[in-house]
Amino acid sequence: MTTIALITGANKGIGFETARLLAATGMTVLIGARDTDRGKNATARLAAEGADARFVPLDVTDAESIAGAAADIDAEFGRLDVLVNNAGITGGLDGDGKPSSTAVSTVREVFETNVFGVVAVTNAMLPLLRRAEAARIVNVSSEVGSFGMMMDPDSPMWPVAAIAYPSSKTALTMVTGMYAKELWDTPIKVNAANPGYCATDLNGHNGFRTAAQGAEVSVRLATLPADGPTGQLWGYRWGGAGKDEYGVLPW
Ligand code: NAP
Repeated sequence: MTTIALITGANKGIGFETARLLAATGMTVLIGARDTDRGKNATARLAAEGADARFVPLDVTDAESIAGAAADIDAEFGRLDVLVNNAGITGGLDGDGKPSSTAVSTVREVFETNVFGVVAVTNAMLPLLRRAEAARIVNVSSEVGSFGMMMDPDSPMWPVAAIAYPSSKTALTMVTGMYAKELWDTPIKVNAANPGYCATDLNGHNGFRTAAQGAEVSVRLATLPADGPTGQLWGYRWGGAGKDEYGVLPW
């Protein structure tokens, strides 16, 4: 039976590369995108490479869009094996970007996509995920959501003092842990991914890793074996000479 994977925000960046890599393992990939043209173009590019890719209109901040996507997946496949909650925004920087310069509206906008969107999509897809043999949920979080890294003066994250994006990812990591606990006694695994700093539109292509390298983290968590972990923040570990490149990140 083909594995069915939905990736949100899959029209570009890490989400697109995640879809490409999952398709290469033989999965049917559902390309979630909020813009029809961008979604269809990305789907066509993957299909041209031989992927079984289907476009799914999906704006993670729009309840109707989410319900429509769940209904379409139910009608077509009756289940969902993999959900990668990848769509995310930074919200940009207000003024000098410091917490005291940040408008509440910016924080709210970022949480709408990065946190509330994930909860809404996950809750809509859970009935389908429960019908799969052993579903995997991957929430694409970040090291900037890690207290351990952001509050350590020796960490490369220490100079970052912004609130909207980092606190949204902290919330997302906790959300991940809570779903993992709810689903602890099921075959479903729920983990948060840290792709590392990847060159994408999100950061003006300043990252030192490629989107494909970031996507490998999501793919690993989307294809965990039955004895794999749940409720972890796992991925690229930046800044530790002598540390493993990949592993569990501190909360
Ligand atoms: P990106 O290239 O800007 O891609 C973001 C994707 O999210 C786009 O497809 C975008 O669609 C989509 N999106 C945004 N809002 C959406 C909404 N309301 N509904 C549906 N899709 C929406 O950024 P990226 O770097 O690949 O980011 C992917 C994920 O990785 C994000 O969660 C980000 O926070 C996380 N991450 C990135 C880095 C990094 O260094 N790049 C590091 C850690 C974590 P549009 O094209 O329509 O805007």
